[in-house]
Amino acid sequence: MAVLVVMFILFLVKSGAAQLNNTENNLNIPIRSFCGRNPPIVLSSFINNRNSTLAEIRRQLSSNDGFYATAQSLTEGDSVFGAAQCRNYLSTAQCVACFDAGVSELASCITGNGAYVFFDNCFVRYENYDNFYKDPNVVEDAGITPLGICGNQTAYQSETIFRQTVDALLADIKDATPKTKNFYVASTRKITNENATLYAIAQCVKDTTQAICQNCISTAYSYLSNCLPNTQGRFINMGCFARYSETPFFNDNQTIDITSFLKGRSSNVAVIAGAVGGVCLLLIMIVFLLWFRKRKNSKKKEQDTPDLNGAINYNYKDLQLATKDFSKENFLGKGGFGEVFKAILDDKSVVAVKKIEVEYAKAKEEFENEVKLICNVQHRNLLRLLGWSSEESHLLLVLEYMPNGSLDRFLWGPRRGTLNWKQRYDIIFGIARGLAHLHNEFHVKIVHRDIKSSNILLDHDFQPKIADFGLARFQPEDKSHVSTKFAGTLGYTAPEYALRGILSEKVDTYSFGIVILEIISGRRCTDTNSDKPSMDYLLEHAWKLYESKKHFEFIDETLDVNQNHEQHLMQIIEIALLCTQSPVSKRPTMSEVVSMLPNGLSLGNRQLTRPTLIDLERRVLVSYTTRGITNHNASGMQHELLAKEKLPNLNEEDKLDVMEKGMNVATVE
Ligand code: ATP
Ligand code: MG
Repeated sequence: MAVLVVMFILFLVKSGAAQLNNTENNLNIPIRSFCGRNPPIVLSSFINNRNSTLAEIRRQLSSNDGFYATAQSLTEGDSVFGAAQCRNYLSTAQCVACFDAGVSELASCITGNGAYVFFDNCFVRYENYDNFYKDPNVVEDAGITPLGICGNQTAYQSETIFRQTVDALLADIKDATPKTKNFYVASTRKITNENATLYAIAQCVKDTTQAICQNCISTAYSYLSNCLPNTQGRFINMGCFARYSETPFFNDNQTIDITSFLKGRSSNVAVIAGAVGGVCLLLIMIVFLLWFRKRKNSKKKEQDTPDLNGAINYNYKDLQLATKDFSKENFLGKGGFGEVFKAILDDKSVVAVKKIEVEYAKAKEEFENEVKLICNVQHRNLLRLLGWSSEESHLLLVLEYMPNGSLDRFLWGPRRGTLNWKQRYDIIFGIARGLAHLHNEFHVKIVHRDIKSSNILLDHDFQPKIADFGLARFQPEDKSHVSTKFAGTLGYTAPEYALRGILSEKVDTYSFGIVILEIISGRRCTDTNSDKPSMDYLLEHAWKLYESKKHFEFIDETLDVNQNHEQHLMQIIEIALLCTQSPVSKRPTMSEVVSMLPNGLSLGNRQLTRPTLIDLERRVLVSYTTRGITNHNASGMQHELLAKEKLPNLNEEDKLDVMEKGMNVATVE
C-alpha cells in the first residue's frame, strides 16, 4: 500500500530534478518518449504491477552504486518488466531525480501496456514483455527506429579541424565502449586552433551483450558523424545512447581512461583490412583443410563441430533427413545456385538449406565467399549463415530460416497486397540499415552487388534480412577500382557497373533505390507488358510521374494510404530517385539514407535529375541478361545476347565494354 501511495504521489507531482553543475542538460525535457498503443488486459492490475515495478527500480537507483536497475511484477493480468538507467556522471540524487521526472512524464500513459521516455541524463522504460535488452531481435523492439538529433549551430572556426577532432573522438568511443566493464565511456578532446574542448559520452544498457552494444554504438557513430559540423549531436536507441557537445555536460574529472581499450588499433585502414583479410584467409584455409581431410578419410562425420567462428559443419545425411530427402514438401525456392529447402534439425530448430549446384571448382569460389562472411558480418538485418556441409560433391549452406520468405512474394507474388505501409517502411529502413552496416560499420568495406527483392527475406514479424552474400567481394579501399567481373542482376544494377564494371558502394545505393520503388509500387523493376509495349520501366515510370508531380499515381493500388502517410511516402519516392541518380557522387551513402528515411528527405542543395536509364534498345539487353554472371545455366543465352549485332544502339565504346564483360562471363563459366 505504501508503495502505491509513493507512486501515486510521483505520478501526480512532476518532480523537480536536482541541478547539475552544468547548464547544458535538458533535465526535464524528454528527448524521446512513447506510450504503447495496446491496452493492458486488466487496467487496474496493470497499474498496480507498473507501480510496484517502478518503485523497486527507484529503490535500487537510490542505493549508492545504482546507475542501472531492472525489476518485474508478475502478479495477475499483464506482467510488467521495467528498466531505468542513468548516465554515470550523475550523482545518486541526480539519478533519482531524473528517474522521478521520467515516471512523472509517463504517468499519463495508461492506455498502453508499455512506455518509455529518454532524457539526456537517463531513461525509464516498462513493457509487458521480458528480455527487451538481451535479444536484439525482440519483436517489439525491432520496429523502434534509432533517433539522431543534431544541434543547429555549426562549428564557427575551422570546420575541417572540428570535423576531424569529433570524428576521431567518436571513433575512439565507438571502439572502446563495448569493451568497458559498464559499457560506458565519457571522454573529452581539445580542439586545436580553437580554445574549446569537446565532450562526448556513449552508454549501452547494462544488461545487453557486447555484440549488441557494439552494433548499437556503431549505428550511433554513423548518426553522429552525420551531424557534423554541428557543435552537438545526440543518438537515442533502445540499447544505447551517445552524445557529443562543445558545451560541457559532465565534469572534466569524470572522464574514463580509454587508452587501454584502443591499444593495438592501427589508424591505417589498409592494415586492418589486411589483417582481417589474413584472418579470414586463414579461416578459409582451415575450413578447406578440414573439408578435404573429411572427403579423403571417411564418411563418418563429426557432428555439429563448431568452427572458429561458431559456424557448424553439418553432416550431409542429417541435412538430408532434416529436409525429408530434399523433398518437394520442404522446397522453398530456386535461384542461380540451386534449390533452397526448409529443414527441421534434431533439436527441432528450423533452418534453410541451400544446395549449391555448380561444378566443384566454381562452387568452391562461391563457398569461400560465404565462409568469409561468417568471419565478419552479423547484424539484425543481415541473414546469418549458421553452417555448412561439404561432403563428396554436395555443397550445402545452412542459413537462418525466414518464415515469410522473400519480399518479392509480397509485392507481386502469391501474397501481393498483404503488406501495409508501416510494414513496407520498416522493410525499407531495415534494408538501409543492413547495407549501411556492410558499407561502414565494419573494418572492411563490403559491397553486396546483388540487392534485389528476392534477396530480401522477411522474418515472422516482417523485419527484413539481406541474403546472399555469395556474390559480395571485399572491395579494395581504392574506390576507383574497376571490376573485371560483373556480379549482379540487371534491372537493379547501376549503369556504371553494368556497362563499365565500375564498382563502389553506391552500386548498392542504386539497387536499393530500385527496391524502394518496387516496394512502393508493387511492380517488378524489369516488368514490361506485352499488351502495352510502350509501358515504361519502373524507374522511368517513377521519374516521369515525379517530374509531373503525379507521383501519388505511382503508389501500389493495393496499398491503403491515409493522409498521414501520404507526405512521408512522397518523400521516400524522392529518396529512391536520389539513390538512382548518376553520376554516383549525386547518390547518398547508405548511412545518409538511414538518417534521411525517418524524417523524410532533406534535398539541401541537391537537385534531382532524370536518372540514367538504359534506353529502349538496351532493354533487350536488360531483359535477356537479368541474371548476369550469377546465372550459371544461362551462358548460352548470354553468348547469344552479347553478339555485337544484338546491341545496335550502343555506342562503340559501350559495345566493347559489354563484349568485354561477355568474354569475362564466358571465361568464368
Ligand atoms: P539468387 O540466386 O540470385 O540469390 P534468388 O534470391 O531468387 O536468386 P535463392 O537465393 O536461391 O534465389 O532463393 C530462392 C528462394 O528461396 C527465395 O526467393 C526465397 O523465397 C527462398 N529462400 C531462400 N533463402 C531462404 C531462407 N533463408 N529462408 C526462407 N526462404 C528462403
Ligand atoms: Mg537469393
